[in-house]
Amino acid sequence: MGAVPKKKVSKARSSRRKAVWMRLDKPNLVECPHCRELMVPHHICRNCGYYRGVAYLEVEEGEA
Ligand SMILES: [Zn+2]
Repeated sequence: MGAVPKKKVSKARSSRRKAVWMRLDKPNLVECPHCRELMVPHHICRNCGYYRGVAYLEVEEGEA
């Protein structure tokens, strides 16, 4: 934590900083067009192994 006493920081200020943290913490994800799972954009989907309609990884499909 910072060196600023807690009482001196307004609620709005602290919450705003928290919001920035959240944004930095989570990478933006997109929905995989192939399996609809959340994936890192411009990367091979970890769930189905597809990227831009091409299967780069061999993933066993088929959910029980
Ligand atoms: Zn996928």
